[in-house]
Amino acid sequence: MPHYFCRQRCWLTLPLLLCAQSLFAATAPAALAISNPIATATSDSSPVSITKGFHWPAGKIAAVSLAYDDALNSQLDVAVPQLNKAGLKASFYLPIAAPTLQTRQNDWRAVAAKGHELGNHSLFHQCRKSLPGRDWVSVTRDLDTISAAEMAEQVRLANVFLHALDGKTARTYTAPCTDALAQGQPYLPLLAGDFVAMKTHVGGVISHMQTLDLQHVPVLTPSNVSGAELIALVKQAGAAGGMINFTFHGVGGDHLAVSREAHQQLIDFLAANPQYWTTTFIEQMRYVQAQQHK
Ligand SMILES: [Zn+2]
Repeated sequence: MPHYFCRQRCWLTLPLLLCAQSLFAATAPAALAISNPIATATSDSSPVSITKGFHWPAGKIAAVSLAYDDALNSQLDVAVPQLNKAGLKASFYLPIAAPTLQTRQNDWRAVAAKGHELGNHSLFHQCRKSLPGRDWVSVTRDLDTISAAEMAEQVRLANVFLHALDGKTARTYTAPCTDALAQGQPYLPLLAGDFVAMKTHVGGVISHMQTLDLQHVPVLTPSNVSGAELIALVKQAGAAGGMINFTFHGVGGDHLAVSREAHQQLIDFLAANPQYWTTTFIEQMRYVQAQQHK
């Protein structure tokens, strides 16, 4: 799938190639800087059709998932206060080895206590070092050198750590770097019974809610974009009657960042427009699952 992404939506792929960069490597390849990504996305997007046979909760025209990967300081310092002030719920995908899991564990407990979702992002954030642009992947955290069974076991263990933080037993997963192969074998199918839903690949607005495979959900990973560009994507989801999954990294700092101001603009828009159902990914996926089984 990585080759598909690089042909079709290279701007979308690059952020996830770098997903763990500040966690696990010292420097970023400057050549991977991206400009105006959302403009590219909207200009080459196919027209979206209204989702048929599917209804969001009363008064809602689309779902918006705000997710944040890699357990970064700027998420705790900037994104969480902005979300809490607006009364919006979001999802935070924590690699258990991330530094803030040691230094700011109580802050993550507070995030959960506010009603946000703590999602699984594996123990060590392994990614495939053999792929282009993956020099930053540590040899001890190379998904090419661990078996699918071992990776699946580690991901399940991450759920135990998260349970200790928030007491929850149901969870969603975001695959680090959207990599699906461990030692060349698919590992995600081994986890199919462990998660309400899994985010596994990069993609735009989802318009096929009735047939969406909850174990194979796409995400967008915007960075260096304006608030207006983010809001335009929300409106696209509204026109489709579907869903947009934003996976952010840094907010006003850290890697792959969106600015504090752009994030605030998106938050303000969502708070002022409750027809967009902005809540935790797990709540949205449970609702979709129930609708699909009606
Ligand atoms: Zn990540």
